[in-house]
Amino acid sequence: MPTLFEKIVAGEIPATIVFKDDRVIAFRDISPQAPVHVLIVPNKPIPTVNDVSDEDERTLGHMFIVARDIAKQEGIAESGFRLIVNCNKHAGQVVYHLHMHLVGGAPLGPMLPGGTHG
Ligand code: AMP
Repeated sequence: MPTLFEKIVAGEIPATIVFKDDRVIAFRDISPQAPVHVLIVPNKPIPTVNDVSDEDERTLGHMFIVARDIAKQEGIAESGFRLIVNCNKHAGQVVYHLHMHLVGGAPLGPMLPGGTHG
């Protein structure tokens, strides 16, 4: 079964795409948690960070380059932004196709609101 994000990569489900190349796609989150909320997704369907392999290194590094460029494009590079990758249940991962959230455009508050440690 293709993941939801594979369907977006394939153009089978609409999305507001802000960047696309042979390794990654980036599109606006359907339920934004900040004024800017973009998902950066490898075209290859890696389920979680636990499933990353050595051959993915270039693609994963490329995700940071794309994040840098999108932050600049969105005008939030200087004000600041946060990159989030959730892995499995405790992190609240919902879509099992690895992705990086790029959020910003307003003060984001503490890194872990309601954190249970410290
Ligand atoms: P995560 O909890 O890290 O797995 O995040 C999954 C994200 O995907 C959530 O922020 C959702 O709002 C977002 N999402 C789910 N379906 C879509 C969609 N069709 N287009 C864009 N974003 C989506």
